[in-house]
Amino acid sequence: LREKIRDLEQSFSQKYPPVKFLSEKDRKRILITGGAGFVGSHLTDKLMMDGHEVTVVDNFFTGRKRNVEHWIGHENFELINHDVVEPLYIEVDQIYHLASPASPPNYMYNPIKTLKTNTIGTLNMLGLAKRVGARLLLASTSEVYGDPEVHPQNEEYWGHVNPIGPRACYDEGKRVAETMCYAYMKQEGVEVRVARIFNTFGSRMHMNDGRVVSNFILQALQGEPLTVYGSGSQTRAFQYVSDLVNGLVLLMNSNISSPVNLGNPEEHTILEFARLIKSLVSKASDRSKYMSLSRSQIQFLPEAQDDPQRRRPDIRKANMMLGWEPVVPLEEGLNKTIQYFSRELEHQANNQYI
Ligand code: NAD
Ligand code: UDP
Ligand code: UDP
Repeated sequence: LREKIRDLEQSFSQKYPPVKFLSEKDRKRILITGGAGFVGSHLTDKLMMDGHEVTVVDNFFTGRKRNVEHWIGHENFELINHDVVEPLYIEVDQIYHLASPASPPNYMYNPIKTLKTNTIGTLNMLGLAKRVGARLLLASTSEVYGDPEVHPQNEEYWGHVNPIGPRACYDEGKRVAETMCYAYMKQEGVEVRVARIFNTFGSRMHMNDGRVVSNFILQALQGEPLTVYGSGSQTRAFQYVSDLVNGLVLLMNSNISSPVNLGNPEEHTILEFARLIKSLVSKASDRSKYMSLSRSQIQFLPEAQDDPQRRRPDIRKANMMLGWEPVVPLEEGLNKTIQYFSRELEHQANNQYI
């Protein structure tokens, strides 16, 4: 058996990232909806490298093939172009349900589609989980807390969401997705896990999805003004994507069916973020010819409507019940992300004349 394992590992080692060998009883068939997106593609990497069989289902609205192309052709990997609003019939053991646009400009672009994805899409995945007896983990969000009146936010808080505001398609969509999970759990015995994910950043975030980290890094790299919406006194707490992915896998394989916050509790104002990113890009500027910090100023633009003013996770539950906490320091994660975006800019520049 050892030889067989070595042969298998060798035959794949040149072409693919290293994959652990798992015996059949430990190897799971795992569906990741939205697996070609930012978080989903990192989750795909972890589960593939852990030796599982991974099927990615994505309609490529905000995701892209390039995020998972390094697995295409691997015998444990499958990529299906499919919209979760349509029913899906496959056989799996676990479902990580991430399909949904996630950045405010993306989810506001077509609010009806965002609602359909989070409601009908989640219903379909729960119907699938029920039929095949799979466990489903929902990628929910800190947005279920809305513009919170409780700080920091713990899982007991019911939230403060404007049901008819511009963010409602996403916030209420995710709230009803949670409701559906618990209805299927109570009525049909489906095993569910609900992760309330707080702001996350890292490589493979979309260049132009309008989130604050990608905006500020790109602006600083290109010597453009950093656009702060409102006074910049609103706060967020950002976690690096590898911490989130570890938390998602721990939660899926735990016995905790109630919602769990996953986020980094280190809270900063948006203005502090702008200054920090400016200074990190400046320190890294010898690494790339695309950095011209001197022109980057901070520009104040009008406040976004219904923008949550303070957000910070209370992660005591994840810490106590999963033994989880973020381990990547903010500056280290930001430096990696700055490197990624600077490579992406170079890639774009090199390809634009082809
Ligand atoms: P993303 O936009 O990179 O990924 C979402 C993926 O879902 C994309 O690949 C997209 O093409 C796919 N998708 C969208 N609609 C679909 C549909 N109808 N059918 C099939 N695929 C569809 O965003 P992300 O940051 O990776 O977010 C992943 C999940 O995590 C989302 O559910 C999001 O709500 C949640 N989340 C993310 C954050 C964060 O800060 N990144 C915070 C809270 C919650
Ligand atoms: N569904 C799916 N794949 C499956 C099973 C169900 O996509 O393997 C969809 C199905 O189309 C349905 C939804 O999930 O619309 C909810 O399924 P459920 O069995 O709970 O409801 P029903 O089909 O009884 O209305
Ligand atoms: N923001 C900003 N400038 C930008 C993009 C966002 O000041 O170019 C602010 C935004 O108003 C919000 C915070 O940064 O207060 C986080 O925004 P993001 O869209 O990243 O995430 P979310 O609002 O969903 O937390």
